[in-house]
Amino acid sequence: MNLIPLPAFQDNYLWFLHDGHRALVVDPGDAQPVMAMLQRESLQLEAILVTHHHMDHIGGVDELRDATGAQVFGPANERIPEPLIRLTEGDNTVVLGHTFHVIDVPGHTSGHIAYYCADVDGHPLLFCGDTLFSGGCGRLFEGTPAQMLASLDKLAALPGDTQVCCTHEYTLSNLKFARAVEPGNTELIHYQQRCEELRAGKLPTLPSTIEQERQINPFLRSRLEGVAQAARAHDGATPPDDVAVFATLRQWKNEFK
Ligand SMILES: [Zn+2]
Repeated sequence: MNLIPLPAFQDNYLWFLHDGHRALVVDPGDAQPVMAMLQRESLQLEAILVTHHHMDHIGGVDELRDATGAQVFGPANERIPEPLIRLTEGDNTVVLGHTFHVIDVPGHTSGHIAYYCADVDGHPLLFCGDTLFSGGCGRLFEGTPAQMLASLDKLAALPGDTQVCCTHEYTLSNLKFARAVEPGNTELIHYQQRCEELRAGKLPTLPSTIEQERQINPFLRSRLEGVAQAARAHDGATPPDDVAVFATLRQWKNEFK
């Protein structure tokens, strides 16, 4: 299988997976890069997987469906144009001969879902939309800190070698914030160096892995004493509970320059 992040807009990736004949695409905010790829490689688009309703994730769906006849899958409870096969946690769908499990991950939007496949060429694969980023997490537009923390807990519990396909190249700015939270995290320092080299070469920092994110992502580490202490030092009014610490981290990141 070939896994390719197609760049779109300022910093989006349209994740594209194909087996040489058939393809799927995740969150095609723009049809054009997908159409170009299908034509160049003579591929048939079998399915479009949508994680949430934001325009930079669905803007190309209608055009791609019309042009290719691909089936569209998306969240059960979001405002997304029909026809659409609506999915929620516990549902599975088989695409390109692989079973994708649906995980509800509310927080960025209220009905956001993620797609997890246990084995693509020997590794698990996760399409997580705008829920988990490398070194960060999505903004809370519709959900609460408690919802987002619970969603990230589910993703953090996936196997460590899971390839994490996030929808935005936000890694370097996320890591700047992560360094402010955990200045003594040596794995974070090394990871930042590797990502800076990749970006200097105009290469994606993604996919990441769940194990990598457990080591460097402050939003997956908010229960660690050092991270909680940093949050409380930033906002002395933070009560000593997990959700409050997470909420302070998210707010701190929103204001971080
Ligand atoms: Zn979004």
